[in-house]
Amino acid sequence: MTIEEYRKRAKETVDYIVDYLHNIRQRRVFPDVKPGYMQALVPDSAPEQPDTWEDIFADVERVIMPGITHWQSPYMHAYFPALNSYPSLLGDMLANAISSLGFTWASSPACTELETIVMDWLGKMIGLPSCFLHGNKNSKSMGGGCIQTTASDCTFVTLLAARTEAIQRYKVTKPDLDDAEINGLLIGYCSDQAHSSVEKAGLIGLVKMRFLFSDDNLSLRGDVLQEAVKLDREKGLIPFYVCATLGTTGACAFDNLREIGLVCEAERLWLHVDAAYAGSAFICPEYRSWMAGIEFVNSFAFNPSKWLMVHFDCSAMWVKDARALHRTFNVEPLYLQHENSGAAIDYMHWQIALSRRFRSLKLWFVLRCFGVEGLQAHIRKGVILASKFENLVRSDGRFEVAAKRHLGMVVFRLVGANELTEDLLKRLNKQGNVHMVPASLKGKYVIRFTVTSQFTTAEDIERDWKIITDMANIVLTEAVS
Ligand code: PLP
Repeated sequence: MTIEEYRKRAKETVDYIVDYLHNIRQRRVFPDVKPGYMQALVPDSAPEQPDTWEDIFADVERVIMPGITHWQSPYMHAYFPALNSYPSLLGDMLANAISSLGFTWASSPACTELETIVMDWLGKMIGLPSCFLHGNKNSKSMGGGCIQTTASDCTFVTLLAARTEAIQRYKVTKPDLDDAEINGLLIGYCSDQAHSSVEKAGLIGLVKMRFLFSDDNLSLRGDVLQEAVKLDREKGLIPFYVCATLGTTGACAFDNLREIGLVCEAERLWLHVDAAYAGSAFICPEYRSWMAGIEFVNSFAFNPSKWLMVHFDCSAMWVKDARALHRTFNVEPLYLQHENSGAAIDYMHWQIALSRRFRSLKLWFVLRCFGVEGLQAHIRKGVILASKFENLVRSDGRFEVAAKRHLGMVVFRLVGANELTEDLLKRLNKQGNVHMVPASLKGKYVIRFTVTSQFTTAEDIERDWKIITDMANIVLTEAVS
């Protein structure tokens, strides 16, 4: 592609993107395709000779779009939001063009420095204590933040850091045990509502993970953790890590961070907070009460790539003491050393991979283009729309709200057997005009409804509720006949 053609095609692509996002309501949100649908639409092998741009781009609508689930659609209510925004897209366009890999400070100084700065900005925006921030050059903070790919990575990385710390500490009192033997005795904790990524972190970290009963509000409480730790110590195990969730996947419930934190402090357990979705809401001071107990926390993560309109991937992670990460991930071959090694931040010591994208640019663009107040307005609007949806559900006696609504998510179901709600959801997703996914809350099958897009209106919510109730009429009529 020549320079002039790139200039032309890039502008056309931006026009396509704007039209796509602006007219997204015209598309069914959930695609109507079967596994393998694409095979019939494309050749078996790559072209020997170049295809024309016209042919390539025409295939976006012919081949790609029929199989897209439109996550940016206001009719998308599945999972959690994974939003983009124009500033975010522009920031990443630039980052992609620059294509520098910021694994060490020297590998691209601006990448590291901007990330350090925006992580401090973001940390202040959600009210993190200063011990989690890098601070200025003269600050004594051992803490700081970086951008990871996903919340799953944050959980795994912090579990590994906690594991290293526990092994080193335990070796002092049990010099006869080697690392692997101590590793075999380690045990971590989370609630039965924690995301599956916590289970996965335990699996690949080769440590046992105990899933503790949440209370009636789906919240993990301190006494339950305390009892589990006591029993495990009696068995000769070594409790070392707790992952508390602020905003669970199933119902956006909140673990009791203060109670859990007190136990972690007394028992010397690493406390990680997974606030993948809800963390964005903490930019609004009125939602920060769930962060009470943050002083006991070792690491904290949330995904701006979910609700803050910084498109995937962008997971913000802070630690109180970055030395724990260094001890875990520090390898420094000659080719990665530089004149400022040790003096400047080398983010390669904060993660598993070496290479890292320039993700802070899109975050920087979003924070500056919206401003804190603009982002707060976006979050508050999502919560108001969720509350509107909740009222609609409550106004229809055939439905129930299955757990207390928090933030932008409502879990609801048809009153009666699980099968009714299952049938309703299956039919709605097949129809494809709204998209939602289920969860199981202590045996109850529920539908999760999250407000996603920044462009969702009250009319969209009413339209979606009508589609849901029309389908409920069919399901309930067929169930009695
Ligand atoms: N933690 C929670 C509470 C989540 O809801 C999710 C996903 O929605 C995750 C972790 C996993 O997020 P990621 O895809 O960034 O790993």
